[in-house]
Amino acid sequence: MCSQNFPLGLSYLLVKPSLLALEIDWPSKMSKRAGENKLESWMLIWKEKTSGGSRSSKTFKPKKNIPEGSHQYELLKHAEATLGSGNLRMAVMLPEGEDLNEWVAVNTVDFFNQINMLYGTITDFCTEESCPVMSAGPKYEYHWADGTNIKKPIKCSAPKYIDYLMTWVQDQLDDETLFPSKIGVPFPKNFMSVAKTILKRLFRVYAHIYHQHFDPVIQLQEEAHLNTSFKHFIFFVQEFNLIDRRELAPLQELIEKLTSKDR
Ligand SMILES: [Zn+2]
Repeated sequence: MCSQNFPLGLSYLLVKPSLLALEIDWPSKMSKRAGENKLESWMLIWKEKTSGGSRSSKTFKPKKNIPEGSHQYELLKHAEATLGSGNLRMAVMLPEGEDLNEWVAVNTVDFFNQINMLYGTITDFCTEESCPVMSAGPKYEYHWADGTNIKKPIKCSAPKYIDYLMTWVQDQLDDETLFPSKIGVPFPKNFMSVAKTILKRLFRVYAHIYHQHFDPVIQLQEEAHLNTSFKHFIFFVQEFNLIDRRELAPLQELIEKLTSKDR
């Protein structure tokens, strides 16, 4: 399989409302899989899809687990259940009586896992040769710096950039002082600003996939997963104002289209 054989791209998506409307049918897919969390359901759906084919989806980074029985696990379950209601605007709202930091933390972990898997399925197409720079369309190029280990931004290929990015995010999620998993351990004062940086950076992976790798996404019939995941992500960051509008510019047109038919 080669992307050159399939000359469609983001522009195709933007003029093709039927493609844009493709989303995962949460309730029916989820009800058959009671007891499994969303990520596991996705993995199963993907496995079914790719089994028998020449390639299988691979997880790019190990997924971050939210331990079963914890309050955060309950929150994740709540998020999944409300997603099934079909009203995404309501599904992203802070559940009554819950802590905003914890809600943002649980959802951030969930988005990391989703993006990890979405990117994992197209890593064969995102190479040093195909993507010598990390970009989101012709107008946006990203250089990597994490602000601690790498202060001066480095210009590198997209696979390298995304590897830096996802490793950095994973390090933040694994840091118990930033993302406490134990009951009673408070979130740090700077939690929201850390979460904003994580989400801002994760957005760039969506932007890169949509702009540079939408052809293989169609080939692999993953556009519904990608659209659903991205729409959920956007509704979430809009609800809590987590990403600056300027940062969202590379996908502004898509965001407007995806969110114009609020459900
Ligand atoms: Zn790429």
